[in-house]
Amino acid sequence: MYFTSTRADLHVTAAQAIAQGISSEGGLFVPSEFPAVKAAALEKLVDMNYKERAAALLSEYLTGFTAEEVEYCVNGAYTGTFDNERPAPLYSLDSARHILELWHGPTCAFKDLALQILPFLLTVSAKKSAPDKTIVILVATSGDTGKAALAGFADVPGTRIVVFFPQDGVSPMQKLQMTTQQGKNVAVCAIEGNFDDAQTGVKKIFGDGGMQKFLQEKNMEFSSANSINFGRLAPQIIYYFSAYCDLVKEGKIKLGEAVNVCVPTGNFGNILAAYYAKQMGLPVKKFICASNRNNILTDFLRTGVYDRNRPFYTTSSPSMDILISSNLERLLYHLYGNDAKAAAGLMAQLSGTGKYEVSSEILAELKEEFYAGFCDEESTQQTISRLFKESHYLCDTHTAVAVKVYEDYRKETKDETPCIIASTASPYKFASSVLSAVDASVVPEDGFELLERLSAVSGTPVPLPLSSLKSQEVRHKTCVCKEKMADFIRDFLG
Ligand SMILES: *Cc1c(COP(=O)(O)O)cnc(C)c1O
Repeated sequence: MYFTSTRADLHVTAAQAIAQGISSEGGLFVPSEFPAVKAAALEKLVDMNYKERAAALLSEYLTGFTAEEVEYCVNGAYTGTFDNERPAPLYSLDSARHILELWHGPTCAFKDLALQILPFLLTVSAKKSAPDKTIVILVATSGDTGKAALAGFADVPGTRIVVFFPQDGVSPMQKLQMTTQQGKNVAVCAIEGNFDDAQTGVKKIFGDGGMQKFLQEKNMEFSSANSINFGRLAPQIIYYFSAYCDLVKEGKIKLGEAVNVCVPTGNFGNILAAYYAKQMGLPVKKFICASNRNNILTDFLRTGVYDRNRPFYTTSSPSMDILISSNLERLLYHLYGNDAKAAAGLMAQLSGTGKYEVSSEILAELKEEFYAGFCDEESTQQTISRLFKESHYLCDTHTAVAVKVYEDYRKETKDETPCIIASTASPYKFASSVLSAVDASVVPEDGFELLERLSAVSGTPVPLPLSSLKSQEVRHKTCVCKEKMADFIRDFLG
């Protein structure tokens, strides 16, 4: 097994793919094949804990890593960093709806599952592929990636990290999480624009010749902690296997029985990890792709036309406010039979006209694997409120989108297959929206009063990583226009 690119035929190791982040011609690194987890191997995973499952699955992809190196990464990432001894526990609402809580990490969002391990994967990789170089992590964030990456990389030797976020596109709590970040090697900067502006800006900087030269002179190299990095994707595959194994262990499904997987989707990374899990042998019947009002993926998966020429909405689930879902490129590459020319062609159309259409055969395959739906702002609020009333379960806005789209799916198809529903953030991370859904009386203005009020109403504790922000100083105050992003980086790197 080796890694190639979605836009060119390459032959690189996992270490190279992870250290580099994105391929030089602009494509995304993909495995040349999917390692098979056969029934007997799946059965073995059932009796393992999360770290053991992680090591077993990751070593399938990490060609060139020794068993000790994989173990070092897994132990560093998942020992003492999550508030639960199981980093990704399941909460069953009933026999069909199993909420996969992916927010027990240090920043209270699902990205911790990958970003706690990425610094380890990246530094081990860099030692192999680019020894002595300082790795500069560039991140564009819609809110949660930024903080999770900062938490993972702060003060990691041999790395610097620069995070850009849209000034008005993240929640106050997300903003505070990022702007209070400590660490000698970190920089955080707001930009005037939305997430797509930030992401496009970062991609441009990656490909900029002048910047490359600047880095070379400093013996530095860019890498990415965005979900375009395969080192982000691989750790996300683990929790789908793990959730499945937990369901088997708890007697809720039989080994080999198919499940559905429903994911609130933005950049298509989390749901793509579930798709990868299926390619490896996880029994999944249908992927349910849930979007908010920015429903470009719903349209695409229903019609085969991807068209980003449409209004952009700021919603209460900001981590899904995305019109260019980068990881879709990987899915297209695989569906076209690992055809780099085909994927590159579609991506060229996307950057040229903002639009592309897949063939009718590909559309049929997409429909076979995926159901797509979206949930507007009002339904998001209603779903949070209803779930709390009916099941006394408090969920965040992103999770609510998934819960609602799953309900729509079930009504429409009558499919009662047990479903793993990814819960991507703690409700406390989006406390204002959540509180106004469960308690219509006056919502406090102050962020921390909000947390305490939500705690009182729901009878659940405020996560420590959020309550502790109150006493922390805001250290990052810069805001630049998108044309000035490169200058900000040069200044920071010196
Ligand atoms: C990032 C994020 C998403 C979207 O995940 P993708 O992998 O980009 O599809 C959904 N919910 C939350 C809370 C997130 O932070």
